[in-house]
Amino acid sequence: MFEKIVIANRGEIALRILRACRQLGIKTVAVHSLCDRDLKHVKLADESVCIGPNASTQSYLNVPAIISAAEITDAQAIHPGYGFLAENADFAERVEESGFTFIGPRAETIRLMGNKVAAIEAMQQAGVPTVPGSNGPLGGDDATTLEIARRIGYPVIVKAASGGGGRGMRVVHDEAQLLNAIQITQTEAKTAFGDDTVYLEKFLQRPRHVEIQVLSDMHGNAIHLFDRDCSLQRRHQKVLEEAPAPDIDPKARAQVFEACIAACQNMGYVGAGTFEFLYEDGGFYFIEMNTRVQVEHPVSEMVTGVDIIREQITVAAGHPLSFQQSDIQVNGHAIECRINAENPTTFLPSPGTIDRYHPPGGPGVRVDSHIYSGYQVPPHYDSMIAKFITHGASRTEALKRMEIALSESLIDGIQTNIALQQEIVTDSTFLNGPVSIHYLEKKLGMS
Ligand code: ADP
Repeated sequence: MFEKIVIANRGEIALRILRACRQLGIKTVAVHSLCDRDLKHVKLADESVCIGPNASTQSYLNVPAIISAAEITDAQAIHPGYGFLAENADFAERVEESGFTFIGPRAETIRLMGNKVAAIEAMQQAGVPTVPGSNGPLGGDDATTLEIARRIGYPVIVKAASGGGGRGMRVVHDEAQLLNAIQITQTEAKTAFGDDTVYLEKFLQRPRHVEIQVLSDMHGNAIHLFDRDCSLQRRHQKVLEEAPAPDIDPKARAQVFEACIAACQNMGYVGAGTFEFLYEDGGFYFIEMNTRVQVEHPVSEMVTGVDIIREQITVAAGHPLSFQQSDIQVNGHAIECRINAENPTTFLPSPGTIDRYHPPGGPGVRVDSHIYSGYQVPPHYDSMIAKFITHGASRTEALKRMEIALSESLIDGIQTNIALQQEIVTDSTFLNGPVSIHYLEKKLGMS
């Protein structure tokens, strides 16, 4: 097992990784930007190294500084968390070339799945169903592009092959807007991701976002931890997630689990990963794979009892998975609310000092957060400051526990989306069952 790990991230996920390391008896090195020196995990880590100024380009994305931190502290492995460098194949390669273990899949796998066009192709080969679309990048003349879109049928969605985080996507409702939309998406994608490859997919009208958590080791074992529903989204960003996904056709589910396992084995996948699908009329349609731990991993942990980060670490050290598929059962239901420091009407980030913080508690309540009274939320990074997770014997019980948890939590000094989350978990349509990915925006009057 590793003796010491560098945690190349910040906030709640850095703290989550630190907790898994402590559980395994592994020493930790926190690397942080200047303004992050008072982060909770920095205080708790065995060692800490300041890797640069506040801008993430100069700190959390500063590859030489992170690798130097591993060198000077004599660490053996680097955990990237999510975001920042977690899905950067060049980083994974540099880590390995420098003699450290990258806690995640091989660079080659990250590269393949990082290109959505290539990922879709690989999934089709493994028998995973995909969204009807251009089946490859757009590159021909305008007439060919228009013909492809006509064949798919409007509305269509233009997507950047290297896109992520809800960016690099544009919905087109009729032919007159198509070529212009493609051009804008290409320009944006070039700037944001350094790659202007785009492709087309049918824009599904009322799908749900259902994703499958997988874990694989270096010995050919792959298991799934069932599914999550992440349909509550705003601007393609998840707001609330739950596990298992409610009301899924059992036959379609069994088939898709099998296909995901086959895909993991085909590509020699190592570590934790998520296959993301749109689910409509009883059918699954693959959209992309995330080759890292996800924000919403706790809901799967709550219903299966598996510590996903611990498995990521032990698998990266060459150990076999601690579980077989037959050991994995779903126990009850779990809900996660993402708590963001943001203005409730404009959704703009609301950085500042948290004067008072009282987290929720009680049966079936888990809080993954780095904040504390007096903590300053910096303006430089993502606005998510906490995740409230509740578990119950049923969906109804988990939702009720979330309603109570939200009502007893207090975050003073900054604005948050707690009121929005309260509205969601008491919304009668949502309480009655799953909703589509467009539901929240409709409720908010955005579409
Ligand atoms: P990202 O990598 O930015 O997360 P995804 O491809 O995972 O992008 O898509 C993010 C979200 O955008 C999905 O969860 C879904 O809400 C929406 N979306 C993506 N593709 C489609 C589609 N073909 N039809 C309808 N909605 C889509």
